Amino acid sequence: ESKLSGRNSYKLYSTTMSLAIEERLTMENELRYALRRDELYIVYQPIISGFSGRVIGAEALLRWDSEKLGEVSPEQFIPLAESIGLINLFGEWVLDQACGQVKQWLKIENGPEYVSVNVSSKQLRSQAIIDDVRLALTLHQLPPSALELELTESTLIEHTKENQQTFDILHNIGVRLAVDDFGIGYSSLSYLRRFSFDTLKIDRSFISDIPHESDATQLVEAIQSMAKSLDMKIVAEGVENRHQLNFLQQNHCYAIQGFFISEPLTELKFMTFCNERLKRNHVFLSDSLDA
Ligand code: C2E
Ligand code: MG
Ligand code: MG
Ligand code: MG
Repeated sequence: ESKLSGRNSYKLYSTTMSLAIEERLTMENELRYALRRDELYIVYQPIISGFSGRVIGAEALLRWDSEKLGEVSPEQFIPLAESIGLINLFGEWVLDQACGQVKQWLKIENGPEYVSVNVSSKQLRSQAIIDDVRLALTLHQLPPSALELELTESTLIEHTKENQQTFDILHNIGVRLAVDDFGIGYSSLSYLRRFSFDTLKIDRSFISDIPHESDATQLVEAIQSMAKSLDMKIVAEGVENRHQLNFLQQNHCYAIQGFFISEPLTELKFMTFCNERLKRNHVFLSDSLDA
């Protein structure tokens, strides 16, 4: 009997396996054509000042609307793009698009000053990122300060020497460098000091427990004071309610990003969002949302 059930479970397992493999192959195939078929697009999530409420910048987030598969989450297709060697191509495209957008924003008086672009560790390793950044800045005639690159903590920890060199070059070009999802990896103070990063983006898992969990609250306060002593700016990610916003404001958080402020928006909607807020004279969102 045990043999039989063993065989059955093997059969079930292999069917599930081949389904997963088939799905992955389909997705892989579709992803290869995504750029050519114009299925990729970018949304921009507003980042506001923790002091004035002004929209100071936005994070560019890649989206894939596949003809065959519908909307696929970046959590799914980004790792796939990395593993089949498409990420450099996609990354180059995102940089170009995002730089084109921020060029428009800079024309708005008191408008957003920078766009923040996610860079995968694969892009960093290939070093193509350096040329891509130079090209995008030149092509769109942008001041380097209008571009921020987000790297996850895990990227900082691996391949230290090569990455250090790349970071130095990027830093010398003058683009801003941000540590993404800070707090869930384990970067030490010395890492942070060695790499010349400008911004820490606190992972949303810490923000979600504010202000009810005293641990989370103390942690955010600790990250704040650490960032201050390292002369880094802090962006809180994943701010979803007023309590979190109030807490962060009270703790002089430099910038805030999250669904409570706005979801990621298409280019046009982002422009509208900025203009609406400017019309209201940068009224802090916690006041204006009540209306
Ligand atoms: P990330 O860089 O940490 O981006 C923030 C993610 O949190 C986004 O998910 C955003 O939509 C989501 N988010 C923003 N505010 C809130 C909130 O208040 N609550 C919650 N629960 N979530 C919020 P998204 O767009 O699905 O992107 C997921 C990840 O995919 C990104 O995480 C980033 O690591 C990666 N990614 C996205 N676009 C790119 C890209 O162009 N290149 C690379 N290499 N990676 C990208
Ligand atoms: Mg990011
Ligand atoms: Mg993040
Ligand atoms: Mg993330």
